[in-house]
Parts: sequence; structure tokens; C-alpha cells
Amino acid sequence: MIRGDARELAHLLDRIDGRGYRAYREVAGAWDLEGCQLVIDHVQGDPFADPSRVRVRVPGARTGLPPWACAAGSRSTGLASHLARAFARHAGDVRSRGSGKSGRIEMECPGQEVLAQSAVAVAEDGSIEARFRIGLPAAGRRVLAAEASRLLVDEVPRLVEQSLLFGAYESDCLRLVVETNEDADALRALLDGLGLLAFVADGSVLPRASGVDDRPLRDGSVVPFASPPRLRVDVDLPNAGRVSGMGVPRGVTVITGGGYHGKSTLLRALERGVYNHRPGDGREKVVTDHHAVKVRAEDGRSVIGVDISLFIGQLPLGGTTEAFSTANASGSTSQAAAIVEALEAGATALLVDEDTTATNFMIRDRRMQALVPKAVEPITPFVDRVRQLHASHGASCVLVIGGSGDYLEVADTVVAMRDYRALDVTEEAQAVVAAFPTGRLVEVPGTVPALPHRLPAARSIDPRHGRREVHVKVHGTRRVRLGTTDLDLTAIEQIVSTAQTRALALALVHARQLMDGERSVPEVLDGVMEAVGQHGLDVLDARHVGDLAAFRRHELAAALNRLRSLVVTVAAR
Ligand code: ADP
Ligand code: MG
Repeated sequence: MIRGDARELAHLLDRIDGRGYRAYREVAGAWDLEGCQLVIDHVQGDPFADPSRVRVRVPGARTGLPPWACAAGSRSTGLASHLARAFARHAGDVRSRGSGKSGRIEMECPGQEVLAQSAVAVAEDGSIEARFRIGLPAAGRRVLAAEASRLLVDEVPRLVEQSLLFGAYESDCLRLVVETNEDADALRALLDGLGLLAFVADGSVLPRASGVDDRPLRDGSVVPFASPPRLRVDVDLPNAGRVSGMGVPRGVTVITGGGYHGKSTLLRALERGVYNHRPGDGREKVVTDHHAVKVRAEDGRSVIGVDISLFIGQLPLGGTTEAFSTANASGSTSQAAAIVEALEAGATALLVDEDTTATNFMIRDRRMQALVPKAVEPITPFVDRVRQLHASHGASCVLVIGGSGDYLEVADTVVAMRDYRALDVTEEAQAVVAAFPTGRLVEVPGTVPALPHRLPAARSIDPRHGRREVHVKVHGTRRVRLGTTDLDLTAIEQIVSTAQTRALALALVHARQLMDGERSVPEVLDGVMEAVGQHGLDVLDARHVGDLAAFRRHELAAALNRLRSLVVTVAAR
């Protein structure tokens, strides 16, 4: 129900001018502004609280967005993300006076990755719904009507005009946005048929501006990516046409080379390649299988009921590791758990960087085998399992290894980074392996058994806090408060935005209703992903919030596995 037009809204504001802040409640509802509809969903309680939640709806006739830009799927996702970024930027320029958060207009701004998100939605008919927050202006704790009027009646339609209408952009720019996103999805869909795990286009810019700035490095020192000739693959994309680049084959790939020569930078690009990137990012045509998962050591984390016996056998004092739990994992047990958890969630590839691994998990050389007999070493190093994981679980692996030649022996492909240039050194590596035998003994039988099923219990998740049924608070990209418990997602490197973290936290709450003690962890993940796939992110929060972004089942699994309150029963394999 529409409550009135812009004049009537201004009138109402006039009427409550100078009254206590709570009088703003009267503006809740839908208003017809010039060319768009403003819906005020929730009015903040006071000027210092989280700003009020609002939406604008703009019909297709007004946005003028042509059908080629709004096609469902890749195109509209790319477009919506671009519009959200523009809206957020223009909103940041709005200045206002008043106390507390008066006059702030805030939209969740997408980062370099292009994700489906809830801040801006574009429908096939070109209509748009944008969701954001407005700090309703106050003088002290009193309604500041003139200022509120200016924001709602003038600024909001101006923001719409600046960022949500076709006419606000060069049409070439929007074409690039939607075509880039479509090409990235098409490229990822080609990987399987080509037997590839990832593709890195020639000319890509992989290094980032800094450790805290994910935009591309832009100075004279950048060496654009170029594929080694033997690994070069040509692909045909719907918009860009023929593109050449390095195909990372399935199987075991080692990225090696000297320190500071660009190894981790390449791996990080592969990690992020599970998502699409915006035009100008440099990684638009770096794509990785959607189910590739970065794993690392994370000492101190909790592990609940995970079968790590593949990697770690009998512990000191007789502890078994077939359903291993600890509130304080070591480097090696945390890395073992991360790998098994990733496989359980359906990872098709593991991405590993020696910078973030536990050395004793990765290697055990001939001399250590001689000094510390297998009988008293519970760890079976990853080097002895990596090929078996591929054979028995179909899990490929890309490893950054500069320090241990033992891995050359188990690699199908060896890429060396030298001065930021990629070289295919597979043949040289094989020659080195033949010339310098390590004398290592392979210490394990050749097969990997199936994993047992873990059945999580609903009581693992309790989002209540005081009188609130669901209390979720996100601090930065990787810290979550769920009910009265803290969840540390610091080590989950493929989480890329706060909006994603927030969605993950709500997804855990949603997962609770599926955790009936009968469903296994992968079945619970299936259930949540299906619900989001079918009903969109709003299934996680019915209040029309604009601060959620799409996530993968793997990050949801990782979040679940790091809940210190997780309770599982382990069923036979
Ligand atoms: P490694 O893992 O081999 O030690 P890194 O990947 O961490 O090396 O890279 C070292 C430094 O070089 C980083 O500061 C990174 O931003 C920069 N760098 C990486 N690749 C390139 C490139 N292609 N061009 C320019 N600088 C790069
Ligand atoms: Mg490194």
C-alpha cells in the first residue's frame, strides 16, 4: 500500500519536526517519489543506532536498462554488482548535518569479486530494487524535518538517477561489465571438458596493490602473466572470442621457484578464481573450479569428530584419531582436519601454500625416517597421500613448495616462477628426481578409505541472546558473534567480503533446522545451498536486508567446522 507521494511525505515530516526521535516511526511504509518508490522498512530507535533500513524500487520503464544487460544469471549478476558499487560510492558523497548517524546513506559495497548480493537486484524487465540504510537526521534526539526531507525526497531520487539508470553510464561500460561476467562463467564451465582445474589468461595482472588493498598493483613493475608454451591452451569465449592462457591440469601441480618470485601470488589468484572479478581487476579471466578449496594449518582451532587417521595415527597416550576432537589443534592436526573437512564437503581440489602449512605435516625426509621410526611417528606426511587423494577421491592439488624437493616426485606438473614469469619445468624436475634419489620410504598402504559420516546436532547452534531469538553480529570480514559465542573465520581465506560473512552466519542459523541428527554434514550443506539457490539470499533473513552476498558450500562447511559448540555423532563409513 502506497502511503502518498513526495509532497505528502514532506508534509508528514514537517508535522513531526522537533518531536522526539521516535516520531520518525510514522514515516515507515511505501512512498511514491519521482520515478521510483521508496519503502521505509524499519526506522531506527535513536540517531546513534544502526541507520534505518530502506529500499527503492525503480520500474524498467524508468531505468531504461535494455534486455541484453538484464538477462538472468551471469549478466544481471554482473550488472547488479556494478550498480551497487556505483550507488555505494555516490552515497558516500552525501553530506548532511545532525547528531549520531544523521544523514548517512550506506549501501554494502561489493569488492573486486562479483558475487550475487542483496543490495541491488536487477529483474529481467529492467526494474531494480536497491536496499540501503539511511541515518534519519536528528538535532540531539529530536526530528530534524527539513534535513530528512532533503535526504528522502531529493537525495534518494538523485542517487537513483546517478547510479541506477541506464542513462547514467556509457553503454560500452555496462556492456563490458555484463560480458566480462558472462565470459568468466563460460570459461569456468569449460574447465571440466578440457581436463583443467584452472585457467590463467595471458596478460592477467595477478599481484595486488598491497596486503590490505585487493585492487590490482598498478606500477611499472607489474609483469603480466604469460603461459609457458607447453601449458598454453586456447579457449573460445562468448564475448571476448579466442583467449589463450595457462591451463592448470587436474592431478598434482607444484608451483616452485625462489623466494619472492611470485609463487603465492599465483596461488592466491587461483584461490580467488572460484569467483568472478570485475572489469579492470586483472583477474577477470583467471578462473578456478568452483569446488577448489584453500587449506592451511590453523593451530588453536577446534576440531570435532573428524577422521584424520589418514594423516595422523595413534596419538601419544593411546588417543585414536578416527573421530578426532580437540579444543586446541596443533599445526599438523589442524591441517589434517582442514583437508578431511574439505573432502567431506565435496572439494574437487585442494590449494596449499607452504607459507601457511605445518612442516611436519608436509614432509618427513629420509633422515627423519631413520632417526624417528614410523612406529613412534603418528604423522603420515601429505607427500605420501597427495597422489592417493587424487586416485581415490578425485581431489586434485596445487601446492606452492619452494623448500622440499620430495614433492617433485609426486607432481604431474611443475611450474616454476622466476622473476614473476611462469616456466614449465616438469621435465627438468623429473630429471632432477632421477639424478638425486631421496631414498625416502613410502610409509603407507596405497588406498584411502571412504570417510565416516558426521551427523551434526541442532543444539550445536544457539543464536539466542537475551530476549532475541537470533543475534548475529559481524566484525570485519572474519569475526562473527552468533548468540553468545564467537566464531573465528580468520583462516578461511576464500571468504571475500563482510556481506559474505554475514550471509554465512545466517546460513548457520538456517542450517540448524536441517540438523536432525539423521542428515550428514554434506546433506545439511546441500539443504542450505538448495534453499538459497531456489529462494535467494532473502531465505536467510526475511527483513529485505541489503547486506548479504552469495557464498559457497565450502565456506559454510568451514564455518560450521569451526563452531566450538559443534556436536556430531559419527556413523560408520
Ligand atoms: P613468493 O611466494 O614466491 O615468495 P610472492 O607471490 O609473495 O612471492 O610475491 C612477492 C612480491 O612480488 C609480492 O609483493 C607481490 O605483490 C609481487 N609480485 C608478485 N607477482 C608479481 C608480478 N607478476 N609483477 C610484479 N610484482 C609481482
Ligand atoms: Mg610465498
